[in-house]
Amino acid sequence: MRITIKCPICASRSVARSSQELSVTLREITYRCENDECGHIYIAQLEVVRTLVRSAIHNPAVSIPLSKHVSRRQAAELVQTA
Ligand SMILES: [Zn+2]
Repeated sequence: MRITIKCPICASRSVARSSQELSVTLREITYRCENDECGHIYIAQLEVVRTLVRSAIHNPAVSIPLSKHVSRRQAAELVQTA
């Protein structure tokens, strides 16, 4: 699946031309607007921002915040089991 976004200038479809990994949680993607009258080329970022379900694999090198919804649910479970 390709992630497409609208050009922020003219709202036409933009296509990813290339991407570069900046870290294990952050990528920069170069987009080009498909509207020839616009021709905007720009950089967007794709970042892993929070966890909904924890990985079964432990990797101490990666720190991703838990979603507030997960924290609330886990707190409720702790209260119920106490
Ligand atoms: Zn455009």
